[in-house]
Amino acid sequence: MISLSGLTKVYPGGVRALDAVDLTIADGEFFALLGPSGCGKTTLLRTIAGLETATSGSVAVGGRDVTSLQPGARDLAMVFQDYALFPHMDVTDNIAYPLRIKKVAKGARAAKAREVGERLGLAQLMDRRPGQLSGGQQQRVALARVMATQAQAFLFDEPLSNLDARLRLEARTFLKKLQRELGVTTVFVTHDQAEALAMADRMAVMEAGRIRQIGTPAEVFQRPASTFVASFIGSTPMNLLDATVRGDSLEVSGCKVAVPSSAAGLLTDGEEIVYGVRPEYMAYSAEPADGALGGMVSIVENLGASHLVTLEVGDRVVQTVVPEGHEPAMGDDGYALPRADRALVYRDG
Ligand code: ADP
Ligand code: MG
Repeated sequence: MISLSGLTKVYPGGVRALDAVDLTIADGEFFALLGPSGCGKTTLLRTIAGLETATSGSVAVGGRDVTSLQPGARDLAMVFQDYALFPHMDVTDNIAYPLRIKKVAKGARAAKAREVGERLGLAQLMDRRPGQLSGGQQQRVALARVMATQAQAFLFDEPLSNLDARLRLEARTFLKKLQRELGVTTVFVTHDQAEALAMADRMAVMEAGRIRQIGTPAEVFQRPASTFVASFIGSTPMNLLDATVRGDSLEVSGCKVAVPSSAAGLLTDGEEIVYGVRPEYMAYSAEPADGALGGMVSIVENLGASHLVTLEVGDRVVQTVVPEGHEPAMGDDGYALPRADRALVYRDG
């Protein structure tokens, strides 16, 4: 278990990269830390690892306060974005390196490297140097190196970001499976929301040194806590539209839509809010429907098994996902009926 309490990091020069972060990661959990570039993800990971000193607050690992301990005494293993492999060492020596630091005997080191290398599909590559490996293979060597250490927790800083799209998907599945098998507590930093949603048991969304939401991927996807989180999560961004409460419905860009179930009884007549609904949570129709957002179809994008349809609704645009075979043509009139049980109301817009 990893517990952070009031963790703050101010760099020399005054950048407040972490601002009183409280977070508890459960034993064996795959925890993703998601946020835009510069929000403090790497700083958080490095502060957990002990590579940065916290300005204030504390870090505990397995119930032990490690805030003032050196990195080597924290029993954590970190994988960096660029893998940080030694170019002049072969795969065996790269994997065994942390064991050499721990003064494990040579024979035992090589045996462990072989065992872990085999597990990660590297058996045929043990004599090669990093320069003779593909990006995906290098990534596996970096993984093997942390696995060989048998640390209490793994810390990953965007470990898949240097792989091309196809390999990234494969590595994602592979890494998730491996973590399940090993059951080692894992903190996985990424700026890719799809990666966080796909891999995590729970996740946190960060913005400007603060955690804005913690939850399961389903919770964060379906109930983003703010418009920031809402616009950051999802392969197509949530529609966020200015709306006014009119009796028991909402006026959105000249259309009348139902109040979201989650906001029933919580709104005041005349109040201005932001209405949020994901493109996936609207039913598309070519015919007008009560409670639908209607307008002209301005763009139709092919997503493969579905299409992303952009409607000009009043002076706003609304996007909706339409299953293959039901997509309109550009210039058609179209109507998108939001699901009241999935739409949301925000007051932070
Ligand atoms: P992320 O990993 O989410 O992209 P970082 O943790 O790298 O974010 O950076 C968070 C903030 O701290 C940024 O504003 C960055 O410029 C700043 N920062 C990072 N490292 C240092 C450093 N060594 N000295 C000063 N500022 C830093
Ligand atoms: Mg970073």
